[in-house]
Amino acid sequence: MPAKSKAKTVYTFEDLTSWEKAAAGLSPPARLSVFGDPVDHSLSPQMHNPALQAAGIDSQYVRIHVKADQLEKALRALPEKNFFGTNITIPHKTGALAVMDEVDDLARKIGAVNTVLVEDGKLIGYNSDGPGFLRAIRHEFSVDLRDLRILILGAGGGAGRAVAVQCAVENCERLVLVNRTADKAESLARELRPYFEKEKLEGPSERLQTVPWTDEALRAALDEIDLIVNATSLGMKRTDPELLHDSLFQPHHLVYDMVYSPPRTKLIASARNMGARAANGLSMLLYQGAISFEYWFNRDAPVDEMRQGLESALL
Ligand code: NAP
Repeated sequence: MPAKSKAKTVYTFEDLTSWEKAAAGLSPPARLSVFGDPVDHSLSPQMHNPALQAAGIDSQYVRIHVKADQLEKALRALPEKNFFGTNITIPHKTGALAVMDEVDDLARKIGAVNTVLVEDGKLIGYNSDGPGFLRAIRHEFSVDLRDLRILILGAGGGAGRAVAVQCAVENCERLVLVNRTADKAESLARELRPYFEKEKLEGPSERLQTVPWTDEALRAALDEIDLIVNATSLGMKRTDPELLHDSLFQPHHLVYDMVYSPPRTKLIASARNMGARAANGLSMLLYQGAISFEYWFNRDAPVDEMRQGLESALL
């Protein structure tokens, strides 16, 4: 019997191909992971390991560094290596979709997979980012997406797209897409148009719109918006430019910044200064993780332990 060993911070694709050797002596055995490139920043182990322990599941969750040209083989190795599944992070969420044996309807609409379940030797792809966002908004502001007029900054990126599709599927009151590269927002709007054909709102505003990223256009659009979402990659660094001028916020706005580190981003500080309510992306990270857990184990996730795990990791 091999001596007990501690999990490495990051495993490699080569480790995965000889998992019996690379993970020998791990107790509990590693049967869940996150694939990414890079992956060392991922907080998923700190969130999922307390959950597995609290649920009495004899398994641990590890990071595996997988490059694009290794993705298919790495995914195909999971059933053979006895994994329950894996999460997929940047930049593989779109690439993973093509490898799946089955893809959930929402993941197909989003065009990306962030959760893989191994079932009867097959790979089943899900996306918990959109539903995680839905739960996060309900948790932070006690409202549902379907009741909101929503503006997404960064609608051309992967996270912005997941959130926009979720808003469309939920039949939100109004959706305004904004992106630095305007073409990407326009192309997403064309795709989402069928969800917005039925009139829901009274009044002259279109239910689905793209708006250029200028103060003038944003000021006009924001009069008729309840929820502002930052889905750009800006906000993590102190040197990042301001996303919205203070003068654009109104006290009725709810602001959700998908960035969670730092916890009080410039966007959140500006929104609160102007009397708006604002929350960071930790709740989305938490709930997308909880939903992945539900896909893997078909039971409620121990959300309190997951939240504590994340909060301690971010201290
Ligand atoms: P991505 O696919 O690389 O997209 C980046 C987005 O940011 C694009 O819309 C891009 O616009 C925009 N952007 C980048 N630099 C910009 C600038 N200087 N000015 C204006 N817009 C700019 O990244 P992603 O995967 O969507 O992730 C976006 C953010 O969401 C990241 O901060 C990520 O950590 C966060 N996220 C959080 C959660 C969570 O659970 N809280 C989950 C997923 C992602 P262009 O199209 O013009 O390039």
